[in-house]
Amino acid sequence: MYSYDFFVIGAGSGGVRAARMAAQMGARVGICEDYRVGGTCVIRGCVPKKLLVYASEFSGAFQDAPGFGWAAAAPAFSWSELIAAKDREIDRLNGLYINTLKNAGVTLHQARGRLLDRHTIELSGPEGVTTVSARHILIAAGAWPVLPEIPGISHAITSNEAFHLADLPRRIAIVGGGYIAVEFVGIFNGLGSKVTQLYRGEQILRGFDRDLRDGLAAELVKKGIDLKLNTNVAAIERQGDTLRLALTSGSTLEVDAVMFATGRMPNTRGLGLEAAGVALGKNGEVAVDAYFRTSADNIFAVGDVIDRVALTPVAIKEGTAVAETLYGKGPATVDYVNIPTAVFSQPQIGTVGLSEEDARHEYGDIDVYQASFRPMKFTLAGRDERALMKLIVDRASDRVVGAHMMGPDAAEIIQGLAIALKAGARKADFDATVAVHPSAAEEFVLMREPVARPQAAE
Ligand code: NDP
Repeated sequence: MYSYDFFVIGAGSGGVRAARMAAQMGARVGICEDYRVGGTCVIRGCVPKKLLVYASEFSGAFQDAPGFGWAAAAPAFSWSELIAAKDREIDRLNGLYINTLKNAGVTLHQARGRLLDRHTIELSGPEGVTTVSARHILIAAGAWPVLPEIPGISHAITSNEAFHLADLPRRIAIVGGGYIAVEFVGIFNGLGSKVTQLYRGEQILRGFDRDLRDGLAAELVKKGIDLKLNTNVAAIERQGDTLRLALTSGSTLEVDAVMFATGRMPNTRGLGLEAAGVALGKNGEVAVDAYFRTSADNIFAVGDVIDRVALTPVAIKEGTAVAETLYGKGPATVDYVNIPTAVFSQPQIGTVGLSEEDARHEYGDIDVYQASFRPMKFTLAGRDERALMKLIVDRASDRVVGAHMMGPDAAEIIQGLAIALKAGARKADFDATVAVHPSAAEEFVLMREPVARPQAAE
């Protein structure tokens, strides 16, 4: 007799969902977590990030206000008050997550889990070391930031520490060109830091539609961000309170803080995977089949630790699938096609489906519909910021295979469009849809003429 039917290692988005659902389906469930329940998203990712994004957007609103007749004294900002308010909200959500588990009948072990064999987990926590056993085990241990091995890297921070800095840095360098880098560039810039973004490649947000990448880079520069492309950090040296960054371009940069957002690695170390016969894939992720089963057939894995699509809603769907497979309606998997995503950069990006480049590669003949305009709100504000919208259509089927937006509320707008794409909507369906006026979103149903682009077959 095992102590549990189902035991989950890691109480983040995927793990908590799987544990809760399995318990609601009648399984005896345990879960262990060595930090705070909620995982990366709730504790040091999506949620606190979005709160800081909201905070940083006020500076733009204050700047826009006089254009609408408002006059006010210069606003003052307190970093310590913002961080304290954010921490209170994270504490509240952490409590809600703990309650969710409790109410579902899941036993929470505040401990680090390590597999001793295919069915036994050693738990080390404040209350000592114990072992539990389970028929099925789920690894949902998440991922962790990776830092390059360069001299002085110990002086650098990652997003983990950025949420808890004692003071707002006056000057900060942010290294990387992915989601986390561009989001924190906007946060620190909006809150008043002098921001330099250093990216090793020729344009930020590799993998996104080219027009979005170019569009966002142009807007960041307009906002005063010093964006240095084809540049990396070779070494970091501390001189008093200042950090001197030696750049690969040969120049140096002086800042008060340097944050690396240079990717994340699956958390597989110290989990006892070898002892349990769980194999890793070529990038160090836990290798799983379509049903999230590892090479040990009673052990499953979901979320960032399998390194498929490192997004919270995807981990939740994966966790749900494992619970369904084991205790519900039977084998369940996840459809990874047309996953919408948002980058909470400033301006925001929302995207679903294929970029123009990928669509051309996959479909050959495509039509591209594009609109670029100054959002209405910015006209009176006098703000020089443009929005961009783009639809990619497969000519042969008339299906919309990509929808992309940069501009206010892009995340909110793209969620609705994602349903249309998932349902296989054609451009004719977009054309037949009545606009919501006046809105930015209406552009998506008003774009009539494709932009001229060379076609593969022409
Ligand atoms: P990303 O993989 O998005 O970006 C990593 C960046 O770091 C890339 O620009 C990469 O460059 C660069 N890089 C990698 N190694 C080095 C190096 N040695 N030196 C310099 N630069 C380097 O990772 P993030 O850390 O930004 O985010 C991790 C994941 O978390 C994302 O992929 C996303 O799935 C998820 N996330 C989602 C968010 C959302 O939904 N809004 C928000 C935040 C994170 P290159 O392009 O050349 O490889």
